[in-house]
Amino acid sequence: MASLPIVQFEEKILQTVEENPVVVIIGETGSGKSTQLSQMLHRRGYTKSGIIGVTQPRRVAAVSVARRVAQELGVRLGEEVGYAIRFEDRTSDLTRIKYLTDGVLLRESLSNPELNEYSVIILDEAHERSLNTDILLGLVKRLVKMRASNLKVLITSATLDGEKVSEFFSGCPVLNVPGKLYPVEILYSKERPKSYIESSLQTAIDIHIHEPEGDILIFMTGQDDIEKLVSKLEERVRNLEEGSCMDAITLPLHGSLPPEMQVRVFAPAPPNCRRFIVATNIAETSLTVDGVVYVIDSGYVKQRQYNPSTGMYSLDVVQISKVQANQRAGRAGRTRPGKCYRLYPSMVYEDDFIDVTVPEIQRSSLAGSVLYLKSLDLPDIDILKFDFLDPPSNDSLEDALKQLYLIDAIDDNGSITSVGRTMAELPLEPSLSRTLMEANENGCLSQALTVAAMLSAETTLLPGRSSRNIEKKRKHTPNEVHLPDGSGLGDHIQLLQIYEQWDQNDYDIGWCKDNGLQVRGMLFVKDVRKQLCQIMQKIAKGSLDVRADKRYIKGQQEYRNLRKALCVGYANKLGQRSIQHNGYRTIGFNYQLVQVHPSSVLTTDEYGMFPEYVVYHELISTSRPYMRTVCAVEASWADPILEKIKNLNVNKLSGGLGQNGKHGTEGEISGLPQREPVATSGAPDD
Ligand code: ADP
Repeated sequence: MASLPIVQFEEKILQTVEENPVVVIIGETGSGKSTQLSQMLHRRGYTKSGIIGVTQPRRVAAVSVARRVAQELGVRLGEEVGYAIRFEDRTSDLTRIKYLTDGVLLRESLSNPELNEYSVIILDEAHERSLNTDILLGLVKRLVKMRASNLKVLITSATLDGEKVSEFFSGCPVLNVPGKLYPVEILYSKERPKSYIESSLQTAIDIHIHEPEGDILIFMTGQDDIEKLVSKLEERVRNLEEGSCMDAITLPLHGSLPPEMQVRVFAPAPPNCRRFIVATNIAETSLTVDGVVYVIDSGYVKQRQYNPSTGMYSLDVVQISKVQANQRAGRAGRTRPGKCYRLYPSMVYEDDFIDVTVPEIQRSSLAGSVLYLKSLDLPDIDILKFDFLDPPSNDSLEDALKQLYLIDAIDDNGSITSVGRTMAELPLEPSLSRTLMEANENGCLSQALTVAAMLSAETTLLPGRSSRNIEKKRKHTPNEVHLPDGSGLGDHIQLLQIYEQWDQNDYDIGWCKDNGLQVRGMLFVKDVRKQLCQIMQKIAKGSLDVRADKRYIKGQQEYRNLRKALCVGYANKLGQRSIQHNGYRTIGFNYQLVQVHPSSVLTTDEYGMFPEYVVYHELISTSRPYMRTVCAVEASWADPILEKIKNLNVNKLSGGLGQNGKHGTEGEISGLPQREPVATSGAPDD
């Protein structure tokens, strides 16, 4: 790896690290930051006094880079070099270099606030500005003061504004590692195409026919588009006249690809063969694909956006920022001069694209983060004055506090409760943690563990949740599919019933296939369930009665205990039927009018009516606002929640949060770290 640009700067980097507790390293994507820095520090002996931890915002990057570094060092993955992502820990007592998601490091800091195990913490890919990395920046700043003598922190980024981070860390040094970028010619379209899939297809085929060798990297917005384009490309290439151009292979690249498929993009193209790599923005900076000479940029990205005033997520295809467009173009110039085909006019780039991407902290629900920060009990920090690089809005913080209050995680003064403390220990979003705790109280923990585990798996698990899966099911399952239907009570119950059926079929892989369920996904659920059960056992320490082994009795009280536990856990996500609007209105969030998502198995009664109250896993605005994953609850369970909402006093909860309408500067507000979000289905790529 001597040819990677960063290696030429080894001495300079090591010397700067030696002399400073915090160093910012800015280097072009592919310069070797993720794979080489840890190895340099290892060679210099930093692993003698502790572990080198390297955080990644994306799970796929943590796994892929750890694999690569283990390979370069000639060691077995999981021994000297390992990784830890949510629900998957491949480290051992031997591990000296550990790649982990930023969320996992946050969780580690709960049980070990000083992170004493680590001699070095590298916050990699800081330019992605993930919510968890942003919170880590604040925590690490604090940690550096406490462990000045034995902790080194490196913050690395491809594009980040180095000066801003340096300022945040009291003027720490910024090292720029010049990349070896060749010139990239930018070619703009005259107008926006009607379909960026068709336009990408045509552009790729034109390049293949007319341009010299070199791989083509095409940016799509998500897995669906990638699959469509891959199959169209394969068909077009098959139909090209034999011998008219070189061979071609088409490779998808996105976060939910199985690992064996992911590694294929790192193998170079065979001779006289061009690769079409069709990727999400994961290929923008997270994973470097070598051999790319042509880039096709649709100018779009799929982004989750949370609106704190409605409690609603939207998963929108939005325009990328200028920084992202330039990153994408840069991918074409790594091996020789390249070309970037922008499927939009230069005017759009100049006038419409925002300069930099909005950090995730400013477009996410902060309930999990605020709970996490409250649970840290930082003695010297008022949690609402937490130090952020870019602070979240007051609306977001208030929204988070309201949600936490409704699920009993904080009291009416905004102080964390003992329930909240236990919730914070679970690697789940607050509603699911609360559900588990309540389920434990009313004797249905086993069922609740199953629901939580099922929700933590990818949404692609179930047929019928997306058109893609319906198609797959039709193609691959000749047998009649007889999945349970949730007994009309909703999707959580269906998830439980599916798992229970699988259990009754002795976790048979064939059963999954016959029912159109992803085998990998179901095995993951089984493993997650086991881990959650262990965590509950550990948390219990005698105080909680973990009755996870109790098997549920079929038809037991129409799952009343479980649904009641879900109602307590999802008290912040309650919907009340609105006959007038032929749907529901959400409670506690400015009364949004919403519908039950068409994929839901919740059924209406003999009069065609849905139940009066439901709880939902999330609100998502696609073509219209929907509640996704819903469960019928009873009016008498909703009453105490309505009462609580009536008495809710946001000012008291926030302890003056809203007093000056602003925060983030010294002496004012800020938020706290969040556990890695779990089961927030539908994330664009992760
Ligand atoms: P940076 O972090 O600066 O973007 P990386 O350290 O990720 O750079 O990448 C350096 C080089 O290592 C690139 O050429 C990349 O293709 C290669 N690389 C990274 N991960 C893998 C992997 N899992 N398999 C093969 N090559 C990899």
